[in-house]
Amino acid sequence: EFHKSKGQHILKNPLVVQSIVDKSGLKSTDVVLEIGPGTGNLTMKLLEKAKRVVAVELDPRMVLELQRRVAGTPHSASLQIIHGDVMKVDLPYFDVCVANIPYQISSPLTFKLLSHRPAFRAAVIMYQHEFAMRLVARPGDPLYSRLTVNTQLLSRVHHLLKVGKNNFRPPPKVDSSVVRIEPRNPPPPINFLEWDGLIRLCFGRKNKTLSALFRQSTTLHQLEENYLLSNALAKAAQPRRKKRGRASEEFKQKVLGVLQGGGFSDWRAAKLSQDEFLALLAAFNRAGIHFV
Ligand code: SAM
Repeated sequence: EFHKSKGQHILKNPLVVQSIVDKSGLKSTDVVLEIGPGTGNLTMKLLEKAKRVVAVELDPRMVLELQRRVAGTPHSASLQIIHGDVMKVDLPYFDVCVANIPYQISSPLTFKLLSHRPAFRAAVIMYQHEFAMRLVARPGDPLYSRLTVNTQLLSRVHHLLKVGKNNFRPPPKVDSSVVRIEPRNPPPPINFLEWDGLIRLCFGRKNKTLSALFRQSTTLHQLEENYLLSNALAKAAQPRRKKRGRASEEFKQKVLGVLQGGGFSDWRAAKLSQDEFLALLAAFNRAGIHFV
């Protein structure tokens, strides 16, 4: 029997398995990282194409089943199984990642892969359909979100195929989609925490204009705190300021000046491209305004 909590939905349709392997563009010299091999339906096909497969599996029963399945085949020496939680293990070097993962870890796993070094060539991952649609959304799409913008900052993402729930045993509640992720290498030379701070703020109210968003007193107050802190750090010592709980008028004008100067005031996060967010961040940073 299968563990729902571990997201164990075994891919039963061999055509879908084959299609995932074909679309992962494997070379005979590749090291493949497979996450959640389960009973090994994908693993056996990957072993035919790649030089080596490293498979990370949490469930000891699945590890045993996979060991049994590969034993005595010509590929047994090219499979390495790591028994553990993929979120906790140190990932080894790999060229391509293939994963039919438990959907609970979709977001943290994606960012764990995207921060892995050296960067891999591509990851072909099965996600819950709606999550996949958020990854590939474009500016103006209803699902365009912080997840979209952060993922696309670090990678190019393409939808490969939709997989109906009846291709799995037991069937999950929702349909799935396979997505291809190619890391941007090198990644854009920005502070990712600061980028995420800006994006989080902008998508807090993604349909508001930036000028309305940046007039909110909580936003201005937080930004002024950051501003004073980074200036204090830069100048080493500064007299202690009394806590006021709201931003100064001077700082508010500074923020609105950045928006007006760059022509950003009427922009709305829901419609902004990567390059527009990058321009916005750069303009704020030039004025000494930071988001962490
Ligand atoms: N790849 C197989 C297939 O396509 O038939 C099984 C996919 S099943 C959706 C997810 C697999 O991931 C299960 O075998 C489960 O035990 C394993 N798993 C769940 N959580 C995991 C984790 N944190 N780290 C590694 N493997 C995990």
